[in-house]
Amino acid sequence: MAAFKPLESRHRMKELLAAHFHGLDAAARDPGRRVAWCTSVGPAELLHSFGFAVYFPENHGAMLGATRTANDYIPRANATGYSPDICSYLTADVGAFLAGKTPLTGAYGLETVPRPDVLVYNTNQCRDVQDWFGFYARHFDVPLIGIQSPVQVGEVTDELVASMVPQYRALIPVLEQVSGKRFDPDRLAEVMTLSTRTTQLWEQVLATMQQRPSPLTFFDTTIHMAPAVVLRGQPEAVGYYEQLLAELAERSAQGMAAVEGERFRLYWDGMPVWGRLRELSTFFQQMRASIVVSTYCNSWVFSAFDPQQPFESMARAYLELFIARSEPAKEAIMADLCREFAVDGVIYHDAKTCPNNSNTRYGLPQRLRQRTGLPFTIVYGDLNDLRCFSEEQAKTSIEAFLEQLEAGAAA
Ligand code: SF4
Repeated sequence: MAAFKPLESRHRMKELLAAHFHGLDAAARDPGRRVAWCTSVGPAELLHSFGFAVYFPENHGAMLGATRTANDYIPRANATGYSPDICSYLTADVGAFLAGKTPLTGAYGLETVPRPDVLVYNTNQCRDVQDWFGFYARHFDVPLIGIQSPVQVGEVTDELVASMVPQYRALIPVLEQVSGKRFDPDRLAEVMTLSTRTTQLWEQVLATMQQRPSPLTFFDTTIHMAPAVVLRGQPEAVGYYEQLLAELAERSAQGMAAVEGERFRLYWDGMPVWGRLRELSTFFQQMRASIVVSTYCNSWVFSAFDPQQPFESMARAYLELFIARSEPAKEAIMADLCREFAVDGVIYHDAKTCPNNSNTRYGLPQRLRQRTGLPFTIVYGDLNDLRCFSEEQAKTSIEAFLEQLEAGAAA
């Protein structure tokens, strides 16, 4: 078996992300270009079809978490009325903006986030995104438009999909006005083709983790998902995942494992703890436990995309999003993933400021255990607000959980 070494593709990803942010900065300074801000599972494809440079504030929120600066800024947002109990992407992002700071300065030399000309949300993930974008709409005095999605979606029926399509079409007149361009269905089909290919390749990347040992872990995929989020609909994302898949195939052929001596295979449900990714990754390595599947990274697999039916398939894909689904639908999706990835147990992250993506509060872990026989544990923390996360406590409960798995395996 070959010794583990970091993926070469990460260099390409760094180049692509640098080009993405410098491109956004240039677009924001160019009077002939327009910038749209979009939620991470919003209609980015429609925006690209109008030629907008598309910026994703959630990605910025995650950068604030990963650089451990979120807690410097959250109190600024709290002081203006945004509660410490709401989304800590929102509070970190708004607080950083009020402080005139951004991690884009250290990473790419940018002075500020790119000024928006229009803000476009989808409430499929939560209401927080609408309130978040509302702050910037007031500040910059630009249009705020979006999709109001149902929550607790059970079966995604044709009727439900059809009921959502008019909301997507209703965005067009505003986007035409802001961009100064007429809607071009052929261009939308082209963008959808690229997004479809991106999402298919991303799904294939995640599927490599079905291998035993897995060539990747959750901690790798939280990094390598960036192009699927911020570059989908652009050819660079397709090229990136083709390169990554080729590298993963090479690794698999050499029998290279992401976690040497992989002893346990686990499911991570919920948000990452962005400010502790490295520590947790090292800890799981030491425990020889590989997190091989997560609902979070799977959120950018949009199986319904179809360039021939752009509006219907966008509406369906963005309704099928895990976070928007009913508890029985979530339970069924998780049970399938547990089986496909052959996991030994499930770790739930209950994120204090994201109840939307914390699936621990209405008995789901207990029902999934009953259905699959798989044990679980719950880690209490947060995506960005590290005051809510005790690394020691988390490690202690995970260690106890792994001992329980070991005892079960030996029994
Ligand atoms: S889903 Fe959670 S983390 Fe994402 S924007 Fe909404 S509240 Fe914030």
